Amino acid sequence: MANYTPMIQQYLQVKADYQDAFLFFRLGDFYEMFFDDAIKASQELEITLTSRNGGDEDRIPMCGVPYHSAPNYIEQLVQKGFKVAICEQTEDPKLAKGVVKREVVQLITPGTVMEGKSLVEKENNYITSLSEFSDGTFALAYADLSTGESKATIVNSFDEALSEINTIGTKEIICDPDLNEHLQQTLKERFSVTISFEKRTERLESIEGFFNQLKSEKAVQTAGRLLNYLSITQKRSLDHLQPVEWYNVMNYLKMDHYSKRNLELTETIRSKGKKGSLLWLLDETMTAMGGRRLKQWIDRPLINLSDIENRQEVVQLLLERFFEREEIREKLKEVYDLERLAGRVAFGNVGPRDLVQLKRSLTQIPYLQHILLSIDNNLSHNLANQLDPCEDLTDLLDQSIVEDPPLSLKEGNIICDGYNEELDQYRHASRNGKTWIAELQASERERTRIKSLKIGYNRVFGYYIEVTKANVHLLEEGRYDRKQTLSNAERFITPELKEKESLILEAEEKSVELEYRLFQLIREQVKEFIPRLQKLAKLVSEVDVLQGFATISEKRQYVKPQFNQERHLVIEDGRHPVVEKVMNAQEYVPNSCHMNGESELLLITGPNMSGKSTYMRQVALTSILAQIGCYVPATSANLPIFDQIFTRIGAADDLISGQSTFMVEMLEARNAITYATENSLILFDEIGRGTSTYDGMALAQAIIEYIHENIGCKTLFSTHYHELTVLEEKLSMLQNVHVSAMEHNGKVVFLHKIKEGPADKSYGIHVAELANLPESLIKRAKELLEDLEHQSEATNTTTKNNSQPLKVNDSLTQLSLFGTDIEKEKPVIKRSKKEESLLLEIQELNLLEMTPLEAMNTLYQLQKKFR
Ligand code: ADP
Repeated sequence: MANYTPMIQQYLQVKADYQDAFLFFRLGDFYEMFFDDAIKASQELEITLTSRNGGDEDRIPMCGVPYHSAPNYIEQLVQKGFKVAICEQTEDPKLAKGVVKREVVQLITPGTVMEGKSLVEKENNYITSLSEFSDGTFALAYADLSTGESKATIVNSFDEALSEINTIGTKEIICDPDLNEHLQQTLKERFSVTISFEKRTERLESIEGFFNQLKSEKAVQTAGRLLNYLSITQKRSLDHLQPVEWYNVMNYLKMDHYSKRNLELTETIRSKGKKGSLLWLLDETMTAMGGRRLKQWIDRPLINLSDIENRQEVVQLLLERFFEREEIREKLKEVYDLERLAGRVAFGNVGPRDLVQLKRSLTQIPYLQHILLSIDNNLSHNLANQLDPCEDLTDLLDQSIVEDPPLSLKEGNIICDGYNEELDQYRHASRNGKTWIAELQASERERTRIKSLKIGYNRVFGYYIEVTKANVHLLEEGRYDRKQTLSNAERFITPELKEKESLILEAEEKSVELEYRLFQLIREQVKEFIPRLQKLAKLVSEVDVLQGFATISEKRQYVKPQFNQERHLVIEDGRHPVVEKVMNAQEYVPNSCHMNGESELLLITGPNMSGKSTYMRQVALTSILAQIGCYVPATSANLPIFDQIFTRIGAADDLISGQSTFMVEMLEARNAITYATENSLILFDEIGRGTSTYDGMALAQAIIEYIHENIGCKTLFSTHYHELTVLEEKLSMLQNVHVSAMEHNGKVVFLHKIKEGPADKSYGIHVAELANLPESLIKRAKELLEDLEHQSEATNTTTKNNSQPLKVNDSLTQLSLFGTDIEKEKPVIKRSKKEESLLLEIQELNLLEMTPLEAMNTLYQLQKKFR
């Protein structure tokens, strides 16, 4: 270190505190990076790597970006999950003795970005702090620095914490550096987000009331960790952070991560994008704030009837008043992102144009209020009357900022005439001077009789009198000083012109400076309005989501659902909201669903691709829509209020994501049957499919029986094991339904209609036919099927039906019986030695220990041997 130049030594000292970040080290008009940072940044940002002499023998790797284009580069790094520490010169280089002082002024991390493309308009950008406690509970506190919103909760297990983090959709997690290694590892594996560490949890009092709502010490500590991290990294006012809002996950409809994913609530399974999700369907919001609120509501449906009804009431009123609703939508369109604006005001990076937009947004509020009140006076209690148009702020902005200010703060022309006396005087001087110059041009033309004489201005020479060469001889000798010669003109100055010029320039310079200072003061005044703006933003976002519900409900002919306490579920002619929307020419076939005492569990059979999954999801999505306060796609619906929804898709279907193994399928099934209550909804789609037929069938049956006996919650269970349909005889709350399909000219025609009773045939081969598998292959499959059916008939001694139900036994321990069943049913098949050895090999594979790729490879090898 000793050999390095003082500047590099300074760099290394600063860098020591920011090991996990790129250090953008300000040198004049550039931010430079050195050593490993430079090598890595040159790769990540595709910028040239150079080197410089740093005092040591070896040259130091270096790369840099110009100051003015730094935001782009910072954004690129942050989007890739890196952190960037901005190190500025903190003293005037002209006054510095020795090396200019430098300090890190901000650490920008994925969870703390305030602007740029990393902030998606309709998405929150959360940063979450997580704490573990010795009693096994975990606390979470999270904030969106760009909107100032912060929340906290406590959950009972790490699993629940993971599920909550998933719901939050955080960009960065802050934990205690001493958090258990295993948990840290799980966080890293589960979420590809930045993990940061912060030891300090003390209750910083820098933000008034930040901790006020938090009654538990655990939550205070966790919110404390969050605030400590934000203060340390941001090093600036965080005044816009709102008091942490406490919530209890039990007060919302609970869905674990898998269930949400399977139901494609906010993103689709395949593309992981919004398009095709429920959020996409419902998003009729007109503002960014509304878009973010909608996502939050979908993630947390309500369970309190009166809260749901409050939302429904507004939706109904808006639905009935088309013209008013359209007007509301027009007004909302003009409302800027007040929440993020408030954040930027606090951060000090708001420009004059933002403030004009703020004013325009605020001027929409009285109209909005008026329309809402005209719809219904009662509505005013909740919404309209609470909307605060912040007229004092509108007045301030109206009087202070011009309608069309420049982007930059350094050019003047921001502040209105009449706002500040001193500014008016400067402007007067400058304007007078300019008039004087205009008049001078006229009088000079007259005096010299040169019509083309003109007075111009440039930065180097200031004001000048320009005369074409042909006319120069007309100028009075000794009156004009030649300043510049152009190819066909000469430029002159006169002492009186210079005198006026300095008056004008001085006035302009002073007025620009003054405008800058005035703007800062106005910004400080706007800061005082932050809490009011945030409250307004919240209400506006709610109006926006509710008008969106009304709009979509009208567009797609949804109906208002009723709720009942008797746990009855009656959906008449229901539709899957998203499938219905994406179906182009074809018509969606509506299906009813009745679930009450005798049909708490629906066992759904039917051919592949007939619509079993769609039907099940339709029921879940209808309940979710109802519980967020929206209308539902049906002709009528009377629903219970669900406390939890679980969905599980059989492993075979889930392989696309490459994540699921049979073990995961079982773990999730366990999750559902452990936590479900009588008031929950379970969707099991082809569960048990990820293992061998008998295994799978046995498990499926045992799971159904378990739910029936021990939970009694509403369950939709789709299966291709026709054998399970006999369970209806034994289980009083189970009912068979099937999705009908027709065979027409040897081809399957899906009717997508749910009917009572079990399906009678598997149409698998026909589906394969529809998928255009080679004709010869289809023919062969049909022959094989016939053979198998004959064999089955021959070996089947227990039933005449060609499906073979597993015996329904009184006890859940009946699994042990299957061994004997299987023995009995084994057809005698002669195999070659090669086949025997291959079978043995397959038998000995330990699938649970294999990755999907290993399994594929092994399968490939086996196939090769067989061929
Ligand atoms: P399964 O679970 O039985 O294999 P899916 O529920 O995945 O079948 O449905 C397959 C396809 O059938 C869906 O993608 C959809 O296009 C269509 N479909 C399902 N239900 C209906 C319906 N009620 N009306 C019209 N088309 C439907």
